[in-house]
Amino acid sequence: MCSCGDGKLKYSNQQENEIGSEMLAMATTLFPLNRSLTGAGNRDTLKTICKMIPELEIHETPSGTPVGDWIIPKEWKVRDAYIIDLSSGIKVVDFSINNLHLVGYSVPIDTVMNREELDPHLYSLPNQPEAIPYVTSYYKQSWGFCMKHKDRLKLTEGPFRIVIDSDLFDGSLTHAELVLPGLEQQEILITTYLCHPSMANDIISGIVIWSFLVRYLQTIERRYTYRFYIGPETIGAINYINLSKNKLKNVCAGWVLTCIGDNGPFSYLKSRASNSLSDRVGVSVVKSMSGIKSGVVGYKIYEFLDRGSDERQFCSPGIDLPIGSFMRSKHGTYPTYHTSLDNLNVLSASSLEDSLNMMKQAIKFIENNEFLRLKTLGEPFMTKYGLRATVSSGLLDKTTKNIMDSLAFMDGVTDLLQISDTTGISMESLIEIAKVLIEHKIVEKVDHEN
Ligand code: ZN
Repeated sequence: MCSCGDGKLKYSNQQENEIGSEMLAMATTLFPLNRSLTGAGNRDTLKTICKMIPELEIHETPSGTPVGDWIIPKEWKVRDAYIIDLSSGIKVVDFSINNLHLVGYSVPIDTVMNREELDPHLYSLPNQPEAIPYVTSYYKQSWGFCMKHKDRLKLTEGPFRIVIDSDLFDGSLTHAELVLPGLEQQEILITTYLCHPSMANDIISGIVIWSFLVRYLQTIERRYTYRFYIGPETIGAINYINLSKNKLKNVCAGWVLTCIGDNGPFSYLKSRASNSLSDRVGVSVVKSMSGIKSGVVGYKIYEFLDRGSDERQFCSPGIDLPIGSFMRSKHGTYPTYHTSLDNLNVLSASSLEDSLNMMKQAIKFIENNEFLRLKTLGEPFMTKYGLRATVSSGLLDKTTKNIMDSLAFMDGVTDLLQISDTTGISMESLIEIAKVLIEHKIVEKVDHEN
């Protein structure tokens, strides 16, 4: 249990239209922290989330612990890092201004070298001269600096003093988890990651949407049990799976939240199974969202071959969980991806709120997806229930037609998601139709393991 103890005060009781602003405020708080695979930046990120969700359980796994084919790495700590041009005395690169300037997991160094010696340790993007690239060297001991290409072009021949005041030491890798029990044991797994430094769409948005989704689910009656995980990508997910093997056996659906805060199209990336419950909900949700919001152009559906986040681990053979990803502009598809230009300017209160609404829609669809069975012999006498105009013109009105089309497929083995897909009736409408039909005892629920 986290012990930051500030309670829920700040984030409780907001009006719906204030949520986007609160989300943006949280993004702004989290953005500057120096996150990595391990370290204080990750813990500080979790502490910020704990102010909103004090129930979050935080776990530490010691460096050196074998996990599958991997080993939990040493912990990385940075106090300072910079390059001084000794010919002018000017700091030409400074980690304290932007944490992307330092290659992730850089080893300590304090030395003087000329430009030719320094150059192999510099990273810049000639095609994006205004952007600092995001570079890491987690598993090979190395050091380096990242800078805007336009600034690199201005570097003199030196000499330069290079200082990286960092430590790599036996510490631990941090992750957090929260389980919200529901009426059923079957679980929905919802994950995101916290291993990138200052980037907005790729990381901050996922953390913010994940946190607000936890809070939303805490306030509603839940049919499913919800399991939330946050930790570093890849090694963190593999570690979590290793620690949770028995706990994950009830997972019937779930999603990774990644790159989910900009104004891009509502996007879904399918699990390896490609037609899992997660996927059928995901596809249905992004299609439904694209019609709601003006200014957002359409939706996108990606196949598992386009994967890139922790669905890679959760869907891995032998683990076989049906985990897809919800996104806005997908990782690797937008020019500011993994650069300093993926900054807070790409997020807005409304884009964050739209993404939260996308996830609320996913919860609505999965919570209300039912297998229903018609109880009458042949079609029911709809007039008796007041579900059909008493004066028939020979043509069914749209509502009656939708009800009759829905009923035609309510055979106890076809769920509402499938009926929506077959008939073109939206899930929102089907959920309402189902409520009415259950009320009138025209159909009954059929228990069905997902
Ligand atoms: Zn990334």
